[in-house]
Amino acid sequence: MDFELNHEQKMWQRTVRDFCEAELKPFAAEVDETGSLRWEAIRKMRDLGLTTLEAPEAHGGFEMDAISVTLAMEELGRACGSTALSVAAHNGLGCSPIKRWGTPEQQAKWFPSLLDGAHLGALALTEPQAGSDLLGGVQTRAARDGDDWVINGAKAWITNAGIAPVITVLLRTGSSGGSHDFSMMLVDTTAPGLTIHPPEKKMGLKGSPTHMLSFEDVRVPAGSILGEEGGGFHQTMQTLDNGRIGIGALSVGLAQAAFEEGVKYARQRHAFGKPISEHQAIQWMIADAALEIEAARLLVHKAAWLKEQGRDFGKAAAMAKLMATEVAEKVARNAIQIHGSYGYSREYPVERIYRDQRLMTIGEGTSEIQRMVIARRVLREFDHYPA
Ligand SMILES: Cc1cc2nc3c(=O)[nH]c(=O)nc-3n(C[C@H](O)[C@H](O)[C@H](O)COP(=O)(O)OP(=O)(O)OC[C@H]3O[C@@H](n4cnc5c(N)ncnc54)[C@H](O)[C@@H]3O)c2cc1C
Repeated sequence: MDFELNHEQKMWQRTVRDFCEAELKPFAAEVDETGSLRWEAIRKMRDLGLTTLEAPEAHGGFEMDAISVTLAMEELGRACGSTALSVAAHNGLGCSPIKRWGTPEQQAKWFPSLLDGAHLGALALTEPQAGSDLLGGVQTRAARDGDDWVINGAKAWITNAGIAPVITVLLRTGSSGGSHDFSMMLVDTTAPGLTIHPPEKKMGLKGSPTHMLSFEDVRVPAGSILGEEGGGFHQTMQTLDNGRIGIGALSVGLAQAAFEEGVKYARQRHAFGKPISEHQAIQWMIADAALEIEAARLLVHKAAWLKEQGRDFGKAAAMAKLMATEVAEKVARNAIQIHGSYGYSREYPVERIYRDQRLMTIGEGTSEIQRMVIARRVLREFDHYPA
């Protein structure tokens, strides 16, 4: 396996970094304070390919390789957590399932508005009573009525729901008690009976809108099923495997941003007659952060590389997500520590980065769920070991 970026990937990384430095980073505090994304920047992302990462070429997609996608997500995370999360959800959760399982008619219907620069895509799995245990807990149901499906229930914590033209929704369509009871459906956000509640008031990622949804007799045509009827749970697991690489990359970006702020500050601030960067306790935090960010980045790239090779990447994606999100938390915590009181103030970005990164060990599968996924795979691998 060769982890060195090729020329195109390095150029792409540079281009995205330059864009993020100019269009996102200087506005990240404002996005956080106002709770609004900077649409001027999101509109420009289409031309660059940042909002078309998971769209088919026929609809203006760039069809990037998986490592280039992680490079973009890291740069977005380094610049603005809120924008990065909404763009990650748009690409990985909103567009990717439609690219993968959408019929030509579904793609032609939804990609133009998903990619028009005025909307972002969304995926609704979680419900008020269930997030980790979707199989046992999802209650939102679609019942067949003539040529339509009629949906009733509620979804919770859905990123971009209020700015999406369509939401892919995981629904119970069967009652056998197994994983084939679920289907994914494309629901028009203007459908009568669908209520998108006001954005949640969150600890961080305040510019990325998160909504509760209620479905009261929402009628969708039979052709709204994405993929096979009964295939929704397996599609969800595959979508999450993919999304975890993106959240891992975004978390590496958040960690990198906190790290850079911490090192800059440590070189300027003096205590006991010298810059605090010359005190060993601070140097150890810097060394640990440099080491752990690099390790997390390599795991993210490995998962992306396996995906690109068409190989099984489920365990690698869980490892990358777990490592990167926990590293981001530690690095952001220590970046505040290095800043002392100023780290606790809104004057410095580390306070915002700390709040933003906190979601990453929860969304798209908590750290506990990643450990379950990894342990199950490892235990299965030992089936082949001699007793
Ligand atoms: C800002 C934000 C954006 C989000 N965006 C989306 C979105 O776009 N679409 C979407 O569908 N969802 C979204 N979510 C929801 C998110 O994916 C869920 O919150 C997450 O999957 C965890 O589910 P839960 O909150 O119901 O926690 P629970 O499943 O109730 O878990 C609570 C705790 O119990 C632990 N736990 C559960 N089961 C086990 C077990 N078997 N062993 C050990 N520990 C366990 C968990 O790890 C966790 O610590 C978002 C959430 C937030 C906060």
